[in-house]
Order: sequence, then structure tokens, then C-alpha cells
Amino acid sequence: MAQRKVDTCTLQARSDNTIGVRMVIIAHPDDAEFSSAGTIARWTHEGYRVIYVICTDGSRGSNDPDMPPDIITPIRHAEQLEAAGVLGVQEVVFLNHEDGTLEPTLELRRELTRLIRYYRPDIVISGDPTRHFQRNVYINHPDHRAAAEAALYAIFPSAVTRFIFPELLKENLEPHKVSEVFLYGSPESDTCVDISETIHLKIRALQKHCSQVKSEYADQRTREWNGEIGRKHGCDYGEEYRRLVLR
Ligand SMILES: [Zn+2]
Repeated sequence: MAQRKVDTCTLQARSDNTIGVRMVIIAHPDDAEFSSAGTIARWTHEGYRVIYVICTDGSRGSNDPDMPPDIITPIRHAEQLEAAGVLGVQEVVFLNHEDGTLEPTLELRRELTRLIRYYRPDIVISGDPTRHFQRNVYINHPDHRAAAEAALYAIFPSAVTRFIFPELLKENLEPHKVSEVFLYGSPESDTCVDISETIHLKIRALQKHCSQVKSEYADQRTREWNGEIGRKHGCDYGEEYRRLVLR
């Protein structure tokens, strides 16, 4: 088995004006854009530094026989960096686990704990690991649930508890408490972020994932879905989350 290499790509120099750090932990390149790009663009424009953590390598992202893993993987990495650039995301970390077979292992939890202790975000966006289905027509990808479960357990108890993964202390990674978690795609969503002013950036970012989504579809689907959420909450376009405020 090939050695797995973690890539950290800095898209923008760290600004002294940053008012805080926020992190997005997802399974695949494009998950952040589909679920949360409007929120992310709002945060970066408000002055937050946003860090993406992509757990898999996106290598199984095509059924085209001419797009085997070694061809599609670098394409998806490049698409993800372009999309993140549109939204003003400052850093993208690719953990490069194999796409399609992600598990919420202790290894993954340790990696995420390391990143949470290193970047010290106040809010983390991830998926809802309890979501198995969507509208009786869609089985939630197990990678989404695995990334979300590992993210939640990295946030609590691992990042905040000194002697879980004590090897991290040797890297000077002191415990860190995340204040809030935003879970996208949750059957129990209770919070809407108004993305009316950033919907155009969400669409542009999604359109960077050319290998995954057609340009017109990205536009139409985003306006429909986020418009529907917006109508429920009294704004033009919205993104919905289950919001955990951790005591
Ligand atoms: Zn996905």
C-alpha cells in the first residue's frame, strides 16, 4: 500500500487582521461547497480565517472508465483549491484517506484532534453523522458519516482532554475547546445562515468542481435548494445547520 501523504496548501498569507479561526471538516472535495459555501464566504468576508480539512483523496469521484483514481485525484485536488480560493478560504488540508472506504478510526480522530489543537477554531462545520438517508431517494455516503463522526469525537472529548492522545503534547499541541459545531444536512436543523449576499460565490465555487457538477446545474440547484431554505426562514437564500453550543 502506498504511503499516505498529508498535503497542506496555503492559499492566502495569514492576515494580522483575522478575528478568529473556523474549520470545515468534510469527507470529499466539493462537500463544503455543496453544503456550506455561502456561510464560509460570509465568514471569510467578516475577517475569519477558514481552514478546510478534506479527509479523503476524492479518488473514486468518477465512474468514467477513462478517469481512474490516478487521473481524477489531482483534478479533484486542483478543483478543490480553486473553489476554496473563490470563497477566501486560507488553507486546505488534504488527509488523503482512500475515497469510498473512510472509517471513523482512532487514527482519523487523532489526525483531526491534531489539526483542531493546532489551528484552534472557535466554530467547526461538519456533517451530521446520524443522517442515513435523504428524502427516501438518497443514501448518505458512508464517508460523510465517517468524517462527521470522527470530527465530533475529535472536538469532544479528544481535543479538549489533555491526556487523550498524549503524544500530541510532545508536539506542543495543548488542549483546545471548540465553542460551537454547525452540522449540515441534519434532520434536526435549527439554525439558518442568511447567504443572500454570498450565493453568487457559492455558485462560482461549486462551478469549479467541473468533474463533479455541470455549471448550469450548480447554478439552478443552488438557487432552488438554498432558496427553499431561505423561504422557510425569511431570507432569499439560506444554509441550514443543527447548531451545538458546547458548554
Ligand atoms: Zn461527498
